[in-house]
Amino acid sequence: MIGTDKYTIETITDVRPWTESLFSFRTTRDRGYRFVPGQFARLGVRDHEHDSTVWRAYSIASAAHDEHLEFFSVVVPGGAFTSRLSKLKEGDPILVERKSYGFLTTDRFEAGKDLWMLATGTGLAPFLSILHDFATWESYDNLILVQSVRTQSELAYEDLIRSFDKSEYYAEFARKLRYVRIVTREPVPGTLRDRVTKLLGSGVLEENVGLRLDHARSRIMLCGNPEMVEDSRKLLNERGFRISRRGDPGHFAVENYW
Ligand code: NAP
Repeated sequence: MIGTDKYTIETITDVRPWTESLFSFRTTRDRGYRFVPGQFARLGVRDHEHDSTVWRAYSIASAAHDEHLEFFSVVVPGGAFTSRLSKLKEGDPILVERKSYGFLTTDRFEAGKDLWMLATGTGLAPFLSILHDFATWESYDNLILVQSVRTQSELAYEDLIRSFDKSEYYAEFARKLRYVRIVTREPVPGTLRDRVTKLLGSGVLEENVGLRLDHARSRIMLCGNPEMVEDSRKLLNERGFRISRRGDPGHFAVENYW
């Protein structure tokens, strides 16, 4: 198997399980591979039975400056891609399309003061990449990361998110980050319990963060469950926030996850 104009063949270098159905993995990265934090890659795994390749989009969780690529995945029951992917191990090949995709990037916005990043499940991935971009920390006064999961064990990357203040590179900015955890299906001290949409609609999220959503200040990114994205989009529209479009920067940007 050799790479083509369309894709390169990379190697899985690390697989990290978080729960029975959640895992992260790293791959080598072609020197020519470019992306903007928040974008996604298209990955291919070989289906030897049918002599074909199964492709799927995956948001990139690693930083634009990292030598590797990192992805965060859920095993979709019966899913052709993730069931194969979850069996892959270190040293196995994976195809990566040369082109990167997607518009969940901060360059979609005009300048703002507060960047709100609302994620459910594996929708966290693009925000990890965005948080490892110095421009994000330099451009905003406050970064608000909301991670909604079903159970405490699914709070993947919590340690990493909490460690910016210990990082040689990010420590000077770390006070800008407000991290809100939502665990919807079990009580966990220090976390919120309601769905992010409910918290958004009731104003409880803003109260908890200590900042108001405001047209001039706030830029909002939504990623994850498509129903969450759709319901949040409606709530934001009702409050006069506009989605960013090509050539027409607005207040918020979205990415559906499936
Ligand atoms: P999920 O159902 O998306 O739940 C993650 C968090 O989002 C939970 O806190 C959940 O709250 C909340 N949530 C779900 N729907 C919401 C909505 N409409 N509004 C606001 N919040 C909402 O869980 P997941 O583990 O990330 O994914 C669940 C399943 O989705 C997977 O098992 C898989 O089958 C599928 N999935 C498919 C793909 C794909 O590419 N095909 C990718 C990711 C996930 P509640 O506890 O209240 O539901």
